[in-house]
Amino acid sequence: MQLLKVYLYSHILGGLYGQALGDAWAMPAYLRPDRTWAYYNGWIDRFLPAPPDHPIHAGLQAGQVTDDTQQAIALAEAIIAEGQITVEGAARAILDWYDQIGGDSSPLVGPSTRKAVAALKAGADPYLTGLEGDTNGSAMRICPIGLIHPGNPNAAIEDAIIGCTPTHFTDVAVSGTCAVAAAIAQAMTPETTLEDIINVAIQGAETGLRHGAPWLGASIARKIDFAVHIALDATISERDRLQDLYDLIGSTLAVADSVPCAFGILAMANGNPIQAAIYAAALSGDADTVGAIAGAIAGAWNGINAIPHEYIEILRQANPQYNFEKTAEGLYEIAQRNQEVEAQASQDLFDDLLNQD
Ligand SMILES: [Mg+2]
Repeated sequence: MQLLKVYLYSHILGGLYGQALGDAWAMPAYLRPDRTWAYYNGWIDRFLPAPPDHPIHAGLQAGQVTDDTQQAIALAEAIIAEGQITVEGAARAILDWYDQIGGDSSPLVGPSTRKAVAALKAGADPYLTGLEGDTNGSAMRICPIGLIHPGNPNAAIEDAIIGCTPTHFTDVAVSGTCAVAAAIAQAMTPETTLEDIINVAIQGAETGLRHGAPWLGASIARKIDFAVHIALDATISERDRLQDLYDLIGSTLAVADSVPCAFGILAMANGNPIQAAIYAAALSGDADTVGAIAGAIAGAWNGINAIPHEYIEILRQANPQYNFEKTAEGLYEIAQRNQEVEAQASQDLFDDLLNQD
């Protein structure tokens, strides 16, 4: 069944803006929750510039996105240019992004990506450059792949594996990336619940773990479940729950920490993109990545109308190099085509079954 066009575009745009909103909102957070709370005297409840002594984001203005959204847009543009995701296209997108931001001297480049970029620049095969990548870089950028497979988490998982390959092709990173891509594809399904989305994420994490180079790491599937359990414990305060997520799940660069944390934040916010951004900022640590992932899922679930226009205006003005609407239109064309192909495949299957009788 083909989704309504308006619905589809609204939820693709919601996913992109949700990612940007969560990323930029949580960007000024410090590395530990108590420090963020003390500095801002409470919740970060609006877009703010990074504090001047921030170790990674100093100099960024209110509403400016970080590497998470930059790479997600780069990946989206590569998908739009080729009509699909390929390992070569994903590698080129990361290399182009790296050069655009002056990656050699930028604190925004994560450890796995920096290693992979160096190897790619030296001419290495993109199928071999991600074999040790175990941080959250591929999970934070994977949103467009969920958006082009509305209602089809299995197809999103297949494409997410391709999207991981050049930089993050360890089993644990593939697991976390598939969890996010599958969740976003599920979030695009009309009438789906937050519980469905989280269950699909857990299944995605389990499937993803069977791909990529054998590595070490905690179970992302089990940690998503644990994070959601912590997040929904209404017997303790919101701040204590965030501290528990920080202490027990971990808001770090490790994919097995930050991806489960993002699902905890999403659950605690009941799927609301603004509330998820507020919680991600208070969580601290790799807050922008947690915010970007939770925000992308929340935005894809709710659609663009869940994000107040004033915030969209701030994001547009603070990131003039991007045209989110145009990128959403490009992804929409591909999403629509994927749906048609899928509808045709099920029609063919149906015809075959009829002919067998
Ligand atoms: Mg970032």
